[in-house]
Order: sequence, then structure tokens, then C-alpha cells
Amino acid sequence: MPELPEVETVAQGLRQRALGRRIAAVEVRHASVIGGSPEGFASTLVGRTLANVSRKGKAIAVELSAEGGIAPHFLLVRLGMTGQLTVTPREAPIEPHTHVIMTLDDGREELRFRDIRRFGKLRCLTSQELEKVFGALGPDAQRVTELEFLAAMRGRKGAIKSWLMNQNLVSGLGNIYADEALFEARIHPLSQPGRVSPHKARLLFRAIRKVLGRAVKLGGTTFSDYLNLEGRPGAFLKKLRVYQHTGEPCRRCGQAIRRIIIAGRSSHFCPRCQVRPRVTAKMRGPRKSSSL
Ligand SMILES: [Zn+2]
Repeated sequence: MPELPEVETVAQGLRQRALGRRIAAVEVRHASVIGGSPEGFASTLVGRTLANVSRKGKAIAVELSAEGGIAPHFLLVRLGMTGQLTVTPREAPIEPHTHVIMTLDDGREELRFRDIRRFGKLRCLTSQELEKVFGALGPDAQRVTELEFLAAMRGRKGAIKSWLMNQNLVSGLGNIYADEALFEARIHPLSQPGRVSPHKARLLFRAIRKVLGRAVKLGGTTFSDYLNLEGRPGAFLKKLRVYQHTGEPCRRCGQAIRRIIIAGRSSHFCPRCQVRPRVTAKMRGPRKSSSL
């Protein structure tokens, strides 16, 4: 599932390949991936130019300008679980699960949205609507300040792993990068944010920056579905230390990496480097592996 580094890679691709280009035609092949009616969606987009690309958390907003003083609109892109946005030559075969095709400029290239699981979404928004969507998200994990981060942790109960993945508190992290950042900072995923020492909290803040920064540089992580705008996979997979490395030796200490389920999601950690605190959050959801 795309997280901040994958979404940022797609945003960068849009900046390089699509900015300044005009949408000449829109074909909605599967209406469930767009917000509103296909006709309304298409009529808002056709004739507009992609003027700017911004991102908050896992959401991308493409600003659409128009001639004649019409107020700008935004195309909100959420990749969901398996969404892919690619700039493709028109003659390239249309792959299965391609749900929206936007013809660019003279028609030689197309912006295609493909999504096998269809949890992704494309929506046209006014600037007020976009403000609301972005306003509901916590500060972006790459831009949050240390002060904001420490303040957000204060007094919080529950598992720090779930806290990191809650998009209303800090946005952009999912299962992969939350596990990797906690390993980097040597914090057990069941620790309670409010009980983590200020020193460790600062280590976590820095670990998030470091892990996300490296992953963005390598174009994100591809397991099966995520691709960048050119249709190529990300290269961070080899850099993962704990995520989906259950049973393998920890790179730091050699102890076998363990996997537990927290709030229904897998968490991977080193039981020696990430010592379980005396007081932890309660485990919720099915326990597939109880060995802590
Ligand atoms: Zn270890």
C-alpha cells in the first residue's frame, strides 16, 4: 500500500511530466473510482491546465487552472491500496483495471489511473473543499516540526504503532514506515506514546525523517502494485530492516525479528533492540503470534 514516499514519488513524477499540460479529454471507464458523476468530473477537467502539485500525507492535490477567470479547481488523488497513475503514450495497450484516462495536450500521451482493488479515488474539489480535506489530516510526517511531534505524543495511550498510523495525528505513515521508524528508534510497537521518554521521542522524530528521506530518494517501496509515474517500481524494498522480515536475524543484534498483530495489522520488530516496556498498550484484534 502506497505511503508517503510512494505518494511523494508520484507527486514528483506529476511535477516533471504533467505540469503545464492541458487536459484535452477525459474517459471514465469505472465510475466507482471518481467522486460525483462521470459527466461532472469530465466537464470540470477538460480544458484545464495542470498548474501545481501539492501533497499532504498520502493525498495529492493537482491545481487546475482555467482561462477566463474561472476559480481554480483541484484534482485530489488518493492511491488507496493499489492505485497507479502513469503518463503513457496513447498507443500503449490499455492494461486491465485502467479506470480513468485523461488525454493530454495533442493526444500523444495520456494520464491513466489504474487500480486493481479500487480503494483509490479521484475527485474534483474547490479550494474550500480541499482545505477541509487537508485540514482533517495531521501535520505531514516529513514536514512536522519536532515541537509539534513531541506535543502530539504527550499523554497519548494506545500503541505507538497505531498512533503513528493515525492520519489525523501525523499523516503519511503506514505499516511499512511505522515499523521501520520504530526499529530505527529502538521503540517497542506496543509502547504508549505518552510514556516514551523525551529522548526516545526525539530519536523517533529523527528516525521518521531519516527513513522517509531515504525511501523518497529511492522512489519508495514496491511489493506488488506500486509504480511511479513512469510505470517503474521503487527500490527501497532492499533497505527494509524489519517489515516482512519475520524470523530473519536483526541487522543490529542477530536476534530473530518477530511479528505481532496490533489493531489488526502486522507489526515487525526486534525483541532485543526494541525492549518491551513494563507498561504497554493493550493488544487489540486477533493475536496471531503471542510471543513477545
Ligand atoms: Zn536487534
